[in-house]
Amino acid sequence: MRLLIFGPPGAGKGTQAQFISKYFDISHISTGDIFREHIRNETPLGIAAKRYSESGELVPDEVTNAMVRERLSQPDVADGFLLDGYPRTPSQASALEEMLPEGAQLDGVLNMIVPEEELLKRLSTRGRQDDELETIRRRLRIYHDTTEPLADYYRDKGLLLDIRGVGGIDDITKQIIDAVNGRS
Ligand code: ADP
Repeated sequence: MRLLIFGPPGAGKGTQAQFISKYFDISHISTGDIFREHIRNETPLGIAAKRYSESGELVPDEVTNAMVRERLSQPDVADGFLLDGYPRTPSQASALEEMLPEGAQLDGVLNMIVPEEELLKRLSTRGRQDDELETIRRRLRIYHDTTEPLADYYRDKGLLLDIRGVGGIDDITKQIIDAVNGRS
């Protein structure tokens, strides 16, 4: 099973990804988590990513694509994965297609839908380093301008599964599992 989880900052991708990856027994790959880990350890990749990540900008595509390519070459994800936070640009989406093994395809793209006022409420109480109001606004704007159009790209391919990301965490997980099982 090869899944993407897609949605604005604060949509609950990370929370749902943990339950969903366990349920389908696939590895959860979060590009945000990988960047934060590198930043914490002050690796060359972390040093390259830090100023973008902390100001809410996207890390340049070449850097992000190379990181994901390396992760997807590892054996635990040969047959499946749940990718969280990637792709976020059209160039990342085409790079991902080239990274998949010959003949392999995505099975679904979970599109988490949450109203903007709810996102602002969640992000402003989360307290992460990049959750300052100005940075949050920048991330939401970049999401809207650059990432959101990718939803149409996946919808046209028949892969998009719309999920209403408001309500109880368990109810949202169940909605996702039903949507994925309904496709397969
Ligand atoms: P968010 O809460 O904005 O969804 P993430 O935890 O997914 O945050 O990512 C945190 C930061 O890591 C982003 O603001 C960005 O700087 C960087 N990042 C994560 N994924 C990508 C990506 N696919 N392309 C570029 N930058 C990324």
